[in-house]
Amino acid sequence: MHSKIARVTTLGDLPLRDDLRGQTPYGAPQKRVRVALNVNENSHPIPEDVAHDIIARVAQALLTINRYPDREFTELREALAGYLGHGLTAEQLWAANGSNEILQQTLQAFGGPGRTLLGFAPSYSMYPILAAGTGTTWIAGDRDADYELSPQTAAAWVERTSPDIVILCSPNNPTGTPLSLGTIEAVYAASRGIVIVDEAYAEFAPDGTPSALTLLPGRERLIVSRTMSKAFAFAGARLGYLAADPAVTDALRLVRLPYHLSALTQAAAIGALAHAGEMLAMVDEIKEQRDRIVTVLGELGYSPLRSGSNFVLFGGVEDTSAMFDQLLERDILIRDVGIPGHLRVSAGTEAETTAFLEAMAALSSKS
Ligand SMILES: *Cc1c(COP(=O)(O)O)cnc(C)c1O
Repeated sequence: MHSKIARVTTLGDLPLRDDLRGQTPYGAPQKRVRVALNVNENSHPIPEDVAHDIIARVAQALLTINRYPDREFTELREALAGYLGHGLTAEQLWAANGSNEILQQTLQAFGGPGRTLLGFAPSYSMYPILAAGTGTTWIAGDRDADYELSPQTAAAWVERTSPDIVILCSPNNPTGTPLSLGTIEAVYAASRGIVIVDEAYAEFAPDGTPSALTLLPGRERLIVSRTMSKAFAFAGARLGYLAADPAVTDALRLVRLPYHLSALTQAAAIGALAHAGEMLAMVDEIKEQRDRIVTVLGELGYSPLRSGSNFVLFGGVEDTSAMFDQLLERDILIRDVGIPGHLRVSAGTEAETTAFLEAMAALSSKS
């Protein structure tokens, strides 16, 4: 029975929590390909001079790595407040290992057994998974045509389900759909609980688009979540953060693990924020490639949705798994998010985007 080759124990043999039985883990394929456009990363490497400054800061932090890091990551919170602006102060900021951990801590503090989380499907695949992990009941609300979310539709769902937490993805992943401040205001007014606005892609919005950060004054139940994983080209470093009333951070202190942000992570993130302008230098270029994807896919006869992010969801695909495979044969990885007739692609570098669009043109002329 103790064979080193065959695995005989399965999940079913373990005393797993009943509410986790039958659940599936997050599973975006991680494959080594020439053109990886599947998880909405910034596919431009960070500038080399910034990398060298970060290395120096990480090296400095290593000299005292025998000690626990600053549990309050004060310098990082000050840097994040400075980056966000909007008059925010460090005591309104909180950070964690990716915004996924930010959302998890929020659910640990405000959700849990007997409580509910309302989101609007299709949305970020992690929301129901984080709900399951924290024992929170997930409620999937609907959207309007073209995956838009009007104040009326959203508020009606809040009134009907009276959730403990509402999560709004702005712009929405995987559809790219921008969300108006009007919808956020209506949801907040209709709800009795926490309202999270996940602004993971905020930096890719058209110039002049107001952030939900502008709604924070006077709304102590509102949380705006951000990440350095996308526009900041820092996905591998794992740094997400939120802005909210200082009392919200007091709630999160009750559930976070002590010293959850390593000294190396703190040093790296502070270094990246010190070069925010350079780190974000490719954002305009990525937006151009996104707009190019929308235009060219439209010309090829597909139905791309409007996008305020660094990716595009497009419909009009007859056989999504066949197209996914045919692109993969060409060493191009995109994402099948499970919406019938639709696939999602991230805007890459100009060369990566060209490779994708040329492959799409070749595949379309064949069929
Ligand atoms: C990518 C993404 C995140 C970011 O996750 P991190 O843990 O910060 O890397 C959060 N929310 C949405 C909607 C995303 O698409």
